[in-house]
Amino acid sequence: MRRLRAAVLASALLLTGCAQSVDPIERLGKKAAEGVRPHGPAADRGYRHWGLSRPLARSPRHPARPLTARPGPHTPPPVVDRVATRDPVVFLTYDDGAERDPRFVDMVRELGLPVTLFLTDSVAAPGYGHFARLRALGAGIQNHTVDHRAPAGLPYAGQRAEICGQQDRLRARLGVRPRLFRPPYGSYDATTLRAAADCGISTVVLWRAALTAAGLGYTHGPHELRPGDIVLVGPDESTRLPLRERTVRVLRRVQERGLTVGRLEDYL
Ligand SMILES: [Zn+2]
Repeated sequence: MRRLRAAVLASALLLTGCAQSVDPIERLGKKAAEGVRPHGPAADRGYRHWGLSRPLARSPRHPARPLTARPGPHTPPPVVDRVATRDPVVFLTYDDGAERDPRFVDMVRELGLPVTLFLTDSVAAPGYGHFARLRALGAGIQNHTVDHRAPAGLPYAGQRAEICGQQDRLRARLGVRPRLFRPPYGSYDATTLRAAADCGISTVVLWRAALTAAGLGYTHGPHELRPGDIVLVGPDESTRLPLRERTVRVLRRVQERGLTVGRLEDYL
């Protein structure tokens, strides 16, 4: 049933089949991200192995504080599909948590690649160990609901259960307290924003670019990557390419535009 609904909604959304406070745990994640960023020879060894023609540039020194103001506990969070920054960075995001390829972990480690994972419990739960390994490398772990229901139109109690329930699960299983939420299928309404705020979410994150079988597609605006763009790398039911391959395709486009990859949690 979930799959059927997913297929219908995905076609309606045109781009993708998918469709997720600095606490001590988060600081650990940041340190891990900074610590694994390859320098010099290590980075030079890695990029060819992963199909890139040159090393991935290091992202600029990240802002001292998030660029967006934190809303109050009951203030609807902003909904963003890009970040307002002039830094030459884009942000790579991955949804659901179905694919758990150990080689993707190697890729993140060897490229020092910042990634953000929006996890759905009913999809990711059998493999939280995989996501713990990515988290240890600095990956951001964020909220994509318990059961991947399209939020818009659901009553408050149901939406709150989907969002707060996943906050609780991610805290219990991975020790994280997500601040970012991506609604399944990009579907949300005013009730979603209220429930998200009540669950501790500070920003609702959509995407401006998504990788499709035809290459990168854009929800609006210029049909090219721009600084601050949030990219949905996968999954995408139309291609079924492994996330590693999808990531390489995106990274080539990123490098062609003279950009690199930033860590979304440093900016939101
Ligand atoms: Zn999804």
